[in-house]
Amino acid sequence: MRLIIMGPPGAGKGTVAPGVCKATGCKHISTGDMFRNNIKNQTALGQEAQTYIQKGQLVPDELTIRMVRQTLLEDCKGDQFLLDGFPRNVSQAEALDGFFAGQERGLDAVILLVVPDEQIISRLSGRMVCPDCGESYNVNSRRPAKEGICDACGGKLVVREDDREETVKSRLDVYHSQSEPLADYYDRKGLLLKIDGSQSPEAVTQSVADALRGL
Ligand code: AMP
Repeated sequence: MRLIIMGPPGAGKGTVAPGVCKATGCKHISTGDMFRNNIKNQTALGQEAQTYIQKGQLVPDELTIRMVRQTLLEDCKGDQFLLDGFPRNVSQAEALDGFFAGQERGLDAVILLVVPDEQIISRLSGRMVCPDCGESYNVNSRRPAKEGICDACGGKLVVREDDREETVKSRLDVYHSQSEPLADYYDRKGLLLKIDGSQSPEAVTQSVADALRGL
């Protein structure tokens, strides 16, 4: 399948994605994870992306589109993928359409996780992530068994720099102004699957699986 998962920061995209990929055989392609890996490894791309990410802004389209195009071609030959965090604006969506131009089929579905802003702010203010495996925890709702340590891989949990309150506000503004219009863009193409992302992670994963089964 060729899938996109979208929604505001903290909607649970990264939490739901592994289950969807396991069920469908898709490769999980997260632009946020790719940027964070580049920052960790101090690549030129990481250094450039970092200045935008720290401010809660979008990394420029040219850089982002080039990175995604290369990954799609190299890692999954343009097929069997779940894009998480891309596209984030209409020009990125148009670039993705261009990628499939001339092929018999394009995207199969776009999963939209809907979560109210108040819940997003409370989720992100307590979020801790494992920089080694990407697992996500929350001081209010999903604590690790051992304080500060990842249950999955034993890594040391950190607070993402862009989860600070001011940056979260910018990220939400960017989402509403630039990314939310994509819901209409894909709805007009008959691809949008709207899922209530305010449920528990297990219930969201189940709703997504049910929606995909209906395709
Ligand atoms: P995420 O982990 O998806 O919340 O992404 C973290 C940050 O990476 C975002 O706030 C952006 O600064 C940057 N980013 C991720 N995906 C994109 C994208 N498709 N276009 C531009 N910037 C992105």
